Amino acid sequence: MLSFIPLPAFADNYIWLLPQPSGACVVDPGEASPVLDYLAAHGQQLGAILVTHHHADHTGGIGRLKAAFPHALVHGPAGVANVDIIHHDGDSFVVGDVRFQVIATPGHTLDHLCYYTPGALLSGDTLFGAGCGRLFEGSANQMYASLARLAALPPDTWVYPAHEYTLANLAFARACDPDNPAVSERLLQDSQRRQQGKPTLPVRLDVELASNPFLRSGEPALLAASRQHDGNPINNALESFAVLRRWKNSF
Ligand SMILES: [Zn+2]
Repeated sequence: MLSFIPLPAFADNYIWLLPQPSGACVVDPGEASPVLDYLAAHGQQLGAILVTHHHADHTGGIGRLKAAFPHALVHGPAGVANVDIIHHDGDSFVVGDVRFQVIATPGHTLDHLCYYTPGALLSGDTLFGAGCGRLFEGSANQMYASLARLAALPPDTWVYPAHEYTLANLAFARACDPDNPAVSERLLQDSQRRQQGKPTLPVRLDVELASNPFLRSGEPALLAASRQHDGNPINNALESFAVLRRWKNSF
């Protein structure tokens, strides 16, 4: 099975790295040093860079990495500096032994792309452990539709988000979905992982489906919670999602 390695960056980013015979593939290198250090320590070259969206904490290291490894190809959305191959929804491409499919997921930003290969989803700032990205550019409607596409992937897919936000997200999940045993179980396990200095990620999609309130907004418990929080009639999963997203912003 594919297994990406987390390279911690900044306060809470992960740069995911997949060793490949043709050179390692890294995702969202917001800074270059963690990647350069890893490659030097393991005697590897850099083969490819995948970029999910334009934010600096996902792109800031690309220039330095390209300078060190000029042959590394950068895959990403239009409008990001140093991208060699611009991708759109439905594209697919090969890095080493792996074929990735591009899933456009507007919401956090309008240019956001996720990368899927059977067994692994690089979800950037769209789908987090027990949460989802803030709506900086897109609408709740767009993000809801984007998450619905990710939620429809095979449930045994491992999800690799770009940030370690899981515990804060689970605290919110406990507030809006308090009777869900999957939330309390996950909070216990992931608290232990963090106490041991381990990542909570990747996480399997079936775990997300059971405990992420943003993927469960149409469940009766979440509809009731968003109704109570908002004070207005909430009639469907999309309206409930929009309330949960606003609620989380001020949580
Ligand atoms: Zn971002």
